[in-house]
Amino acid sequence: MGQTITVSGESGAPGTTSDPDCIFCSIVAGKIPSAAVRETERIYAFRDIAPQAAVHVLVIPRTHAYADAGEIASGDPDLAAELLREAAAVAEGEGLAEGGYRIVLNTGDHAGQTVYHVHAHVLGGEPLGRFGTPE
Ligand code: 5GP
Ligand code: ZN
Repeated sequence: MGQTITVSGESGAPGTTSDPDCIFCSIVAGKIPSAAVRETERIYAFRDIAPQAAVHVLVIPRTHAYADAGEIASGDPDLAAELLREAAAVAEGEGLAEGGYRIVLNTGDHAGQTVYHVHAHVLGGEPLGRFGTPE
């Protein structure tokens, strides 16, 4: 799928990989506008364009190196932990901690993953429906 290049300098931390065909890489690079919620050197959080709850934020590593939760957990456990810490910080910052919230990492076709640049959905702000129901 597409060419993967390694970039350094202003567009990401050293060693950050980017795929020109990836929508989230374009968002990280500022080529596609997004509504920022939080950012660190290695993580970016922004509002989902098609919210599925009152609050719906995507939390992604800046690097394209990992397609899904399993890959990032194996490949860079520190970054995986930072992704989850940032997801929790987003929930706290959005006022979701008291009422509760859901962190979702879809993996593969059956889960409906459409962007193969690992991302955590943070959903909340209202009671959420059940999950895991077959279509
Ligand atoms: P997935 O289905 O892969 O778990 O989640 C991908 C998410 O990315 C979807 O919830 C979708 O609405 C969101 N998304 C796709 N394109 C864009 C975009 O251009 N901007 C933003 N903010 N979200 C997007
Ligand atoms: Zn990407």
